[in-house]
Amino acid sequence: MEDKKRTTKKQNRKISRRDFIGGVAAAASAGAFSLLPSCANIAQIMTIKRKRPNIVFIMADDHASHAMSCYGSKINKTPNLDRLAEEGMLFENCFCTNSICAPSRAVILTGKYSHINGVLDNYTKFDGSQQTFPKLLQKAGYETAIIGKWHLMSQPTGFDYWNILPGNGEYHNPAFTEMGKRKRYKGYVTDIITDFCINWLKNRKDNKPFCLMYQHKAPHRKWYPDKKHAKMYEDIEIPEPETFNDDYSTRSDAASEQAMSIERNLTPKDLKMDPPKGLAGQALKKWKYQRYIKDYLRVVASLDDNVGRLLDYLDATGLAENTIVFYTSDQGFYLGDHGWFDKRFMYEESLRMPLLVRYPKEIKPGSVNKDTVLNLDFAPTFLDFAGIAKPADMQGRSLRAILKGNTAINWRTSMYYHYYEYPSGHMVKRHYGVRNLRYKLMHFYYDIDAWELYDLQKDPNELNNVYDNPAYADVVKQLKAELKRLRKQYGDSDELTKKFLQEYLKKHS
Ligand code: CA
Repeated sequence: MEDKKRTTKKQNRKISRRDFIGGVAAAASAGAFSLLPSCANIAQIMTIKRKRPNIVFIMADDHASHAMSCYGSKINKTPNLDRLAEEGMLFENCFCTNSICAPSRAVILTGKYSHINGVLDNYTKFDGSQQTFPKLLQKAGYETAIIGKWHLMSQPTGFDYWNILPGNGEYHNPAFTEMGKRKRYKGYVTDIITDFCINWLKNRKDNKPFCLMYQHKAPHRKWYPDKKHAKMYEDIEIPEPETFNDDYSTRSDAASEQAMSIERNLTPKDLKMDPPKGLAGQALKKWKYQRYIKDYLRVVASLDDNVGRLLDYLDATGLAENTIVFYTSDQGFYLGDHGWFDKRFMYEESLRMPLLVRYPKEIKPGSVNKDTVLNLDFAPTFLDFAGIAKPADMQGRSLRAILKGNTAINWRTSMYYHYYEYPSGHMVKRHYGVRNLRYKLMHFYYDIDAWELYDLQKDPNELNNVYDNPAYADVVKQLKAELKRLRKQYGDSDELTKKFLQEYLKKHS
């Protein structure tokens, strides 16, 4: 009903000068014509402009795809996220270029690698004066908003409206900073962020397409559930992952020297109680895993409910049809895999991001894609749908052809990764690497010089480092050449790596 009214209102609306100019820009960038239009073109221009889709970008924080039932989770159900997969496209191979919170967010906003956008680690402030996709959308006539977790230290730029959690935010009775003004709210963070988004959608100006970044704190550490889900899973035991007892025997020292182990590094604060007296070794590890994973999944359950609430709103108002809905997380996460929590490593569970995209006009329901796509590609995709040409310095590629079900021409068959935050709390060593459709080569550096190679087809759990196996000598050679090619393509180098390392050590000494 609301949507019908809106359409009628739009049809009756007189064409303002601003609409006209905006329409010209949209049509020109869509390649409709190259000269100024005649009056007869105006109707056509307005049609093009009206068709520009809305964008709802939903991002969770640390939500691993193996805690989503549409990705085959063995430990929980996410019916609302599954709805997006059923009605849109599920990406099986979406990866981040640097698996840690702030850096991934900066990559998403800029469509550029960390070494270009400047956010290499969680200690660096995002330079908000640089080009971002929300700025480009705003300039092209989109109404833009960010609500929820921001985590980039500087104030958001390129948004008509912003209401963000300061820093990491809190789960219960959280404070928000709305356009620079801080206020505390009663309630649970995931519910509140969703309420704010729905309110913003209700009150927005109806003469513009919009881009809403709906960004959750959940399910980030320390995993405080809401009341509704506090007792979920209470009487059941959650299965442990296959690699729970990885002994790192074939790996470099990086895997054993990290500080994100379930057994050693989950604290009584994380677990909300002290371990029972006398528990040690494997028994303690098992106990800690149950405490950790249950809270993680309870927080995910509320996230799933709330995404459902927002999807219901889009359906009820008729917005769903012309709105692209993205669901992703800033990176993956270890859910006891390899005995860990947290992320950072280039191993699959944290490298992989969930990605679901729904847009009824162009995406076949229930489709699944296996191409190697990256968080780097999100910005170019949004620009493409908005009819804005991709700036030459953006490093990702639009996913639009893939979303339409076509094989994109010359799509990448390998991806480049670089992680920088070391030494730091979780002590995951600096490394970079390349992953192609079958293999992954990683190089750990700084206080170590170690290579690892995994054959993902024979060893999907990455338990068997075959770098020194002579049978893989040719593979190593090929992947090193590919790594070199990718580093050159994206403008990364040993010199830059050295420079960043020196700056980091100076800052943290
Ligand atoms: Ca994160």
